[in-house]
This record gives sequence, structure tokens and C-alpha cells, in this order.
Amino acid sequence: MIKENLQIVRKNIEKACAKSNRNVKDVKLICVSKTKPVDMIYEAIACNEKIFGENKVQELSQKYDIVNDPVEWHLIGHLQRNKVKQIVGKVKLIHSVDSIRLAQQIQTEFEKANKIAEILLEVNVAKEETKFGFMPEEVEAAVLEISKYKNIKIKGLMTIAPYVENAEDNRVHFAALNKILVDIRNKNIDNVSMCELSMGMTGDYEVAIEEGATYVRVGTGIFGSRVYN
Ligand SMILES: *Cc1c(COP(=O)(O)O)cnc(C)c1O
Repeated sequence: MIKENLQIVRKNIEKACAKSNRNVKDVKLICVSKTKPVDMIYEAIACNEKIFGENKVQELSQKYDIVNDPVEWHLIGHLQRNKVKQIVGKVKLIHSVDSIRLAQQIQTEFEKANKIAEILLEVNVAKEETKFGFMPEEVEAAVLEISKYKNIKIKGLMTIAPYVENAEDNRVHFAALNKILVDIRNKNIDNVSMCELSMGMTGDYEVAIEEGATYVRVGTGIFGSRVYN
């Protein structure tokens, strides 16, 4: 089932790229394996997938310890400051930096380990009350501040768009995030590259790609629906 699902997702990614004149190589698929057993991760690896996303530090660490294949782990969920030290050296990219205080903690822990943290800033682009992330108007100041942190490299922005029935309803939000990215990139801030745009999930990744996503985060569409106890 995972194999067939991946074929469908890849086809959809190709179609969205063709529609928007983008190179399919510029869109990376993150297989969101949260709540799913490692057996399913192995199945995706057997289908050549190499990027996995988890939203909890403990679950990411456990899977990191079990899976020996050379895969990338991406932390996509809210990160508490007291858990930062547990992910040093394990994650390729932290998608969910949502405050200056968290960035400070990342700086502290990665400096201790003499490592560089690659991060995205999470933006609450639709200004939803229930969501984490910087408000759109706060992003540039946050980038300027965090760009001073020696052990952090800002690679771009991430958003979790609203839950909608019709993916088209999120197009404005994806376009808005892309605009923030480009505006900041054009300022050529030292230590900031602003090339990556993490947006789009099972319900709306095609639209996100059309609006410039470089990472799409797909869980249900690959591994099936999640059961929470
Ligand atoms: C769970 C999750 C996803 C994947 O959601 P699906 O709708 O299952 O594709 C993507 N991004 C984040 C941050 C998530 O927590």
C-alpha cells in the first residue's frame, strides 16, 4: 500500500511541477512517519525515500536509534526548549523554530556540541489563534536577530496552513509565505540563505508546490490515516 501511495504522491508532485514550470528536483518529499511503526519507514526506504518527518522529539530519537539506513530526519513539530539537547546531531533540519527564545536555546546546545543547526522559521501565515509560529510581520526582525547566532543557519520558512476542505483556499497563504521568503532573501542578510519553503501536507501539497514549496510534508497520503489513543 505504501508503495502504491508513494507512486500516486510522486505523480501528483510531477503534475504540479509541470503545471507551474518547476523542476521536480527542486521539490523534496518529506514522508511524515509520526505515530507509524518503523516497519512502515523501512517500506518507504525500500521505495527509495530518504527523508522522514517527525513531530515529537522522543519519537524521532527512538526511530533515529533503530533505523540504520542513511536517511534524513526532520523535526516538523513544536519544539520545547528543554528538549533541544536531545536532537543535537540527529536532525537535518528543524522546521518549527517559532520563537527567539527557542533559537537561543538551539544556539546554546549546538554550540556546546560544536555543531551547526539548520533551521526554518515557522510562520503563522493565516494568523490562526491555535497555531505556533511568528506572525508574518515579525519574521524579518526574527531573521535579523537569529542571523547573529553563530551555530544556526536559517535556510527558509515553514508554515502549517489552515485545515480546509478545498486546497485552493490555502493558495493565498502559500503565496504570502513565498513573498515573505523572497522579500527577505532580497535583503542578502549574512548567514541567511532563504532558499527553502516547507509547506503543503496531504490535503494541499499540489497547490503548495505551484506556489513555490521546496519541501512538502506528506503523512496520511503515504502511510494512511493516523490513530491516536
Ligand atoms: C502531521 C503533520 C504533517 C502531515 O500531515 P498529513 O495531513 O497527514 O499529510 C505535516 N506537517 C506537520 C507539521 C505535521 O505535524
